[in-house]
Amino acid sequence: MKTLEIRKFLEATALLLGGLLALPLYAQEIKELNLYSARHYQTDEALYSDFTKKTGIKINRIEADDNALAERLKSEGANSPADVILMVDAARLWRAQIDGFFKPIQSKYLESRIPENLRSKSEPEGLTWFGFSTRARLVVYNKAKVNPLDVDTYEKLAEPINKGKVCTRSGAHPYMLSLIGAMIERRGEKATEEWAKGMVVNMARPPRGGDTDQIKAVASGECGVALTNSYYLVRLLRSTKPEDQAIVSKIGFVWPNQKTTGVHINVAGGGVAKNAPHSQAAIQFLEYLASDSAQEYFANGNNEWPVVKSVKIENEGLKILGPYKAENISIAAIGKNQIAAQRLLDRVGYK
Ligand code: FE
Repeated sequence: MKTLEIRKFLEATALLLGGLLALPLYAQEIKELNLYSARHYQTDEALYSDFTKKTGIKINRIEADDNALAERLKSEGANSPADVILMVDAARLWRAQIDGFFKPIQSKYLESRIPENLRSKSEPEGLTWFGFSTRARLVVYNKAKVNPLDVDTYEKLAEPINKGKVCTRSGAHPYMLSLIGAMIERRGEKATEEWAKGMVVNMARPPRGGDTDQIKAVASGECGVALTNSYYLVRLLRSTKPEDQAIVSKIGFVWPNQKTTGVHINVAGGGVAKNAPHSQAAIQFLEYLASDSAQEYFANGNNEWPVVKSVKIENEGLKILGPYKAENISIAAIGKNQIAAQRLLDRVGYK
């Protein structure tokens, strides 16, 4: 009887001691966050260190481009240490959602801060990914060759007046798939296919290169008009390099569809990873990204606009671009339409 009591006492003590010993370990465990990010901007250092300062949570970063991150997440599967995934463009974010990379979450704060059309959800589980900054898809034209009034809508680029003048990057790139996905949402598949057909007829050259290459080709006169994400243009506008200033002197830009549906808007954003070992810290990090100070860093890092409307940033490049009317459709619907967009491009031979 006595032996049993002593044993019980020893067991209880061991349990208690074990619990005490385990405490600091547990505390250590929740004090870090594994971030898989397709971002790589200088201002991000301040963004991350500010979060660590505020919460004591250390951020371990894996940086790679969107495709490499997706490959990595696929191969790691359920064992992935990822807590938060950051990517750019609705097309990629939506694909990541379909690939099952995100864990749906609940957050009243994120719901209140981020406009409904700039986030995605999976019913009934919860919110899957969020836009944290926006970029616009602009028209750039050669001032000597093109009248801006002939290129002030996406629709006009496909009209006969622009025959032999139009350049874009590959139609299969997420930036193009999202633009076309948005058009499908606004105008339907049939009208969008007609537009894509007109674009193919009007091309100055087969699609190649990135957005900056399109701007350069417009400056050189090889193309009369092209499409680019706003931050590539801002980067050139802000550049002090003589070769960049030479490019800028030859081009003009237009905010398309200002009298109608508004310019196509996309996002950089992210969500909590499916098997996040630190999912509480992950939600905390996303909520931090929607805070006033983080919104400034996040958007400024790549010359983009904050998604939280009350946040104003001082950015000379964005000031040059001026105010604009934005398209007001669901970014999740745009992402979803990319499959229909790709099919329609294949049908009309848009490479
Ligand atoms: Fe980009």
